[in-house]
Amino acid sequence: MAFGSIKELLEINRKTHSQLWQIIMEEDAHDRNVSTEDSFEKMRNMWRAMKASSDNYDPSLRSSTGLSGGDSSKMKEYGDRCISGEFMGEVIAEAIGMAESNACMRCVVAAPTAGSCGVIPAVLIPYVKKYNINEEKIVKGLFVSAGFGSIIAERAFIAGAMGGCQAEIGSASAMAAAMLVYLQGGSPKQSASALAFALKSLLGLVCDPVAGLVEVPCVKRNVIGAVNAIVSADMALAGIETKIPADEVIDAMREVGLAMPQSLKETSEGGLAATPSGIAIAEKIPKLGSYAR
Ligand code: SF4
Repeated sequence: MAFGSIKELLEINRKTHSQLWQIIMEEDAHDRNVSTEDSFEKMRNMWRAMKASSDNYDPSLRSSTGLSGGDSSKMKEYGDRCISGEFMGEVIAEAIGMAESNACMRCVVAAPTAGSCGVIPAVLIPYVKKYNINEEKIVKGLFVSAGFGSIIAERAFIAGAMGGCQAEIGSASAMAAAMLVYLQGGSPKQSASALAFALKSLLGLVCDPVAGLVEVPCVKRNVIGAVNAIVSADMALAGIETKIPADEVIDAMREVGLAMPQSLKETSEGGLAATPSGIAIAEKIPKLGSYAR
């Protein structure tokens, strides 16, 4: 998509009086040389794939390393004892389940990446259940998240190997926060603030997957990304405004990512991957471990 900044996107919105999702959908259709109907249907299919992925979660499944699987069910069983409330409990379970499915090589939607695939569905699926919103609105919300995500990709990066986990889980969280504001009836400016809050709060997060696998700490980082998105959206909807404009937050994320050493950008040479336990796990998985180190 061709939006260079959030400021520009909001300016188009102000001048055209078109809805944000519509501007983003039209840009996507233009970029890919398809009709707006095709663009909408493609996004609808993304939503349906996310939902199917959640519906098909298999609690008995374990990743080939044995590091991932089954924790989503533990969270669901924990249920109404959840300190942060029933809704947040569902969000946590959903984020773990989706990221476990990714670790178990099941079908997931990369949003924006496979490593962060749990964040957007984790906020969306419980939200849809709670507020009973229809599919058209869900698809529109996903366009909003995609539009903001494309600006992050354009100005910075969305891959851990490029900018650390702030670029991956941070971007997914920021996209989800902007989407939630839209779904709750907030303004585009509030979506931008929510994005800024979410990204600011994960700024500096390193990419340090144990044994080079998207399992530890990735599964639980999807939870943090989802929870962070919800509280960021709530702050923006309450009328709290970001002091640093969203575009500048994205630029700061880029600067931090560029300054980050290679050891903290998916090489598994630093952070949690380089802890004694991280190394021990990698050594127990000889083939993959030697690849990672
Ligand atoms: S730690 Fe790295 S591989 Fe894992 S989710 Fe974050 S960016 Fe992705």
